[in-house]
Parts: sequence; structure tokens; C-alpha cells
Amino acid sequence: MPNYELNIAHLYGNLMNTYGDNGNLLMLKYVAKKFGVTCHTEIVSLHEPFEADKYDLVFFGGGQDYEQLIISKDIQEKKAALTNYIENDGVMLAICGGYQFLGHYYVGANGEKIQGISALDHYTLSQENNRFIGDIVIYNEEFNETYYGFENHNGRTFLGEGERPLGKVVQGHGNNGEDQSEGVIYKNVFGSYFHGPILARNENLAERLIRLALKQRYGTELDLPVESLA
Ligand code: GLN
Repeated sequence: MPNYELNIAHLYGNLMNTYGDNGNLLMLKYVAKKFGVTCHTEIVSLHEPFEADKYDLVFFGGGQDYEQLIISKDIQEKKAALTNYIENDGVMLAICGGYQFLGHYYVGANGEKIQGISALDHYTLSQENNRFIGDIVIYNEEFNETYYGFENHNGRTFLGEGERPLGKVVQGHGNNGEDQSEGVIYKNVFGSYFHGPILARNENLAERLIRLALKQRYGTELDLPVESLA
């Protein structure tokens, strides 16, 4: 069997890693291994360039407002490279604070405006003295898949042009508690407020990301061993 490999960038992994989000990397490695694929991961953080050509998948986890404020300056230096990566169909999973950063801005709990990179067209407002916390279930009609997770966020995100939700809220609050949308899909970018971590509870989504990343890297749909996933 050929030796397939994937390079994963863990964006600001030393700062954006709340609620076990790092478990998503373990899950990506686990699913990839079942397919006979080796994953290499590295953190790309403050004062380091994002070299888009090096990576087949990007993971961007959630964080607290304080860390987000620090990152919001640095990420402007990476804005062009990240936007190019996304526009060239690069595969990405962005959770909570990471998801907020891909959009225009996030107004933090103290009213501070935390600038995003506007690679995607959403924006995020805060809510006063409240957070959306609890179990959440959503349904994605396109894939006919149900995803399970745990949300914990102050932000209320509103999707914009070209964005479709990752799923429709069955239980919980989702993006903003108003329009029943949760998360986002834009090109090969998947964003969500799910912790848990999302991929540990939703192996089908992990498999989707690995397949997409392999397709991007090797240019074709690979014939992967099917016994892999239960
Ligand atoms: N600080 C952001 C919010 O509260 C993101 C939280 C997170 O990543 N869990 O909305």
C-alpha cells in the first residue's frame, strides 16, 4: 500500500485550546491511521508565518477572549496566506474562537472589538451576562449526518455570503440562538461552536476532513480501505 501522508497545521495551538479541542488532532491522527495515512502536526503561532503550501489540513481551536485579543493583531500578518489557502480549497476545521477569527470580527464579552481576517463573511456579536452552554445536536441535510457536541460561547455568529451552516439546530443554541443555524461550511472550511471535542464525538466528520485533505494533496479520490470505520 502506498505511504500516504498529511501535514496538519495547528493554528495558535499553544493559545487556542479550550475544552479539550486539542483532542481533534488526536482524532484526525486516529482516523488517518485507520486509512494507512501518517499525519504530521505542527503548531503555527505568534510571529511565525503561515506557509500555506506546507499544509494539507489546518486546525484552529477555541480560546478565551484574552487570548483572542493577543492573536487578533498577529493573525493580520497571516491574513493573506490564510485567505489564499481557503480560496484554494484548503481544508480547515475551526472551532469557536477559531471560527470567529475567520470572519470579520467578534465583539468580546467586555465590548472590545476583536478583529478577524474576513476570509469568511460572518461576524460575531456578544451577549450581555450570558453564554450559550450545554449539549447540542445538529442535523446536516446535505450529508444526512447528525452531529453531537457541547457548546460554550459568549459569541453570537451571523453567517454571510457564500456560507452555509454546518447543520440545523435540533437541540441547543447554535450560532446565535435565533436562526437555528450552527457552524459554517465554506469551500473546504468547516467551522463550529462544538467542543467535546467535535471530532471525537463525530467520527464521520473526521473521516470527511481526512478524505478531503487527501484529495487536495493527491489530486484524486483515493481508494481507501473501507474496513476502517465502524
Ligand atoms: N471567547 C469566545 C466566546 O466566548 C470563544 C469561546 C471558545 O472558543 N470557547 O464566544
